[in-house]
Amino acid sequence: MNTTAAILERLKPHVNRQRLVDTARRLIEVPSPTGAAGAVSDRLAEILAADGFEVQRLAAGHPTAPAVSIRLESGQAGPTLQFNGHLDTVHLPFVPPAVEDNRITGSGASDMKSGIAAAVEAVRVLRETGALPAGSVLLTAHDLHEAPWGDSHQLDNLIRDGHRGDAVLLPEPLRDVLPIAGRGSATWKVVIRRPGPPVHEVMRPRDEPSVIAAAAELIARLGRLEDELRTTTHPVCGSASVFIGQVHAGEIFNQYPQQAWLEGTRRWLPGTNPGAVAGDFRARLDRLAAETATAVELRWMMIRDSFALDPAHPFVAAFQRCHRAISGSVLPSGPKPFVDDGNSFFALGGVPAITHGPRAGGQHTVSEWVDIEDLVRIAWLYAATAVEFCSEQPRTRRMPDAGPEKVGPEKI
Ligand SMILES: [Zn+2]
Repeated sequence: MNTTAAILERLKPHVNRQRLVDTARRLIEVPSPTGAAGAVSDRLAEILAADGFEVQRLAAGHPTAPAVSIRLESGQAGPTLQFNGHLDTVHLPFVPPAVEDNRITGSGASDMKSGIAAAVEAVRVLRETGALPAGSVLLTAHDLHEAPWGDSHQLDNLIRDGHRGDAVLLPEPLRDVLPIAGRGSATWKVVIRRPGPPVHEVMRPRDEPSVIAAAAELIARLGRLEDELRTTTHPVCGSASVFIGQVHAGEIFNQYPQQAWLEGTRRWLPGTNPGAVAGDFRARLDRLAAETATAVELRWMMIRDSFALDPAHPFVAAFQRCHRAISGSVLPSGPKPFVDDGNSFFALGGVPAITHGPRAGGQHTVSEWVDIEDLVRIAWLYAATAVEFCSEQPRTRRMPDAGPEKVGPEKI
């Protein structure tokens, strides 16, 4: 009988630590700030082709860095488990890879080239062992993940074009909680202007509007909005929010400024229409402009819609069985503290997504690191979850065009 323990036993000797570390190092050594991940995408494609995989390149609206995709087929009908990651890194000075004791460091070591390397290793293990009983595994890696430089449109296009699995694992560095709900988010920048030229404060026309006073009024109003949003709470992910991170106005102490600007975020709960959130924000600014006689411009950038995962989905059970067999316990359910590609899979494709990756740190800093032992665990866990997920699903569950089972936020 193919118990979880037997599956793990069969897979474990094939997880090759050295091969995994080499793959991570070779990905990290190619700089790939968001929007310019072409060279590292080529590098991943080279690595996979050298391993004998048939590599597909998919522009998906971003031809300078086509996404990389491979599929491992079992030869039997069945569901597809997808491993997905982003190859781009935040815009910070490049740090080359280094391997010391149990750590890999360098740009993207934590977020998330090592995680992609672990997913690649999992596919290799599945191929070598022939352990996948049915269905297939799809591996995808892409650019344009990190905001504000990327807007996720490459992944969004892949999902909309049907280049997706029936469930997806995302090796972002989150390992202590199984995220089952997350807020959607947008960033905003508001620029408040007055019509007149820059002028000494004593020379200003008496009826000229004050951009600083208008900005102060906006700050007060957004504070009241935040209070209002806090009155509604979600059992897992708290409340919606509006946050101001920057306020700027003026050049010198006695010049009457022409412009003030503020920048921040707006987050909303699962089940909220993101279009309505943007519309409400815009309407508030229109009222402010009318009442303060200023011109108010809004730059709204949708980052990701909200996220939910049905804890009763068989994919979650398959993952948790493997997690318990490897680590001794199932993961507790909890919130997803950030937005990631799982939000897009859920919102655009109804695909159940689990974010689970290695012990790592320094994301969005120049001091990224990942724990190699834990990276080995991820490769093993991903391979095992594929075997469990693909074997237990009824093989006739999906017709090719039926689309994935819809998991709605109302279920949590
Ligand atoms: Zn990431």
